[in-house]
Amino acid sequence: MSILACVLLLGLGGAAANPAPAAMAELTLQPFPSHVYKAEDRSHEPTASWIFSLTVQSTQPIQLAPESMAIDLMHGRQVLRHSTYNREGFEPLTYTSALSPTLPDGAPSPSPLYWPLSIRLRYVEPATLPVDAMHILVKLKDAQGRTHTVHQDVAISTYQQKAQLIFPFRGKGIVLQAGAMNGGHRDRSGQYALDSTVLDEGWSPLKPGDGKHNADYYGYGHDLLAPADGTVVRVRNDRPDQPVGDTSDPAYYAPEFPRGGDPGNNIVIDHGNGEFSMIAHLQPGSIRVTPGQRVAQGQVIGKLGHSGDTDTPHVHYQLQSGPDFRYADALPCHFDNIAQKILDRGTYFEAK
Ligand SMILES: [Zn+2]
Repeated sequence: MSILACVLLLGLGGAAANPAPAAMAELTLQPFPSHVYKAEDRSHEPTASWIFSLTVQSTQPIQLAPESMAIDLMHGRQVLRHSTYNREGFEPLTYTSALSPTLPDGAPSPSPLYWPLSIRLRYVEPATLPVDAMHILVKLKDAQGRTHTVHQDVAISTYQQKAQLIFPFRGKGIVLQAGAMNGGHRDRSGQYALDSTVLDEGWSPLKPGDGKHNADYYGYGHDLLAPADGTVVRVRNDRPDQPVGDTSDPAYYAPEFPRGGDPGNNIVIDHGNGEFSMIAHLQPGSIRVTPGQRVAQGQVIGKLGHSGDTDTPHVHYQLQSGPDFRYADALPCHFDNIAQKILDRGTYFEAK
């Protein structure tokens, strides 16, 4: 080996042992979901809302603290509103993501990726405000006191649903939990998800009983239906039900979901148009379909259960942009066989 090669190897070895200085870090802002949709609220005043996370991505490990932020709500090239945040205004919007950094589709990054800081942005605006994009400029301070400036444009659009959906069960029901803007599901693909259960003719969720047994719930074991034609792409059918009717016991979560969020037994149907239905928390062994199988709208696919992270027997439904709920975007949805267009927590409905 030549002296030159030796020096080069030592140099490389040194670089690997001591990470390059933080000033070299390249920062970008990654919105999650990667497509942000505004949806009309149920309100006496017509409003539309949207919510998303903006994750600061770094090519190197780096500590960052919020310094300031400026946001323009845009319509085309016109600024509808300009807002500025000082440190005190910016800081409460920031958090540290518990997720492992990946590319937006869930693939591991070919080069190291770090998520030192995330920002949560939530808007409720007059429904007529024609926002179609946000321009976001963020200033962050590293541990050496240097300021990093990074900006991102985020499109804000109204989703045009493609599939004609029916609700995943028929009959009277109630929404137990809805989307993020309604105090419910907050994750990337679940922002418009609905938890619901079947009610009896008198609109009651419970049979006589203390609610400790799954069988006390009228909806438990009710047939669940394919919301639209499609191809089954994912099935999980081996998870036990939670044994206590009104409890979510972590001991019954699948090992890969130690902190919760376990969908339990679930089915994902590809509707062939970029839309996928996910139906979760089914009874163990009740799923009648297998991956690759074509299903028709209304076909029985399984039974309402209490598997995964669930504190009462119910069905979780969400429309999403891909097969894997961890890396798909949430899609707003409505159902042709329910009169109400907007389903919030506590909504009683009848799926015809
Ligand atoms: Zn849910």
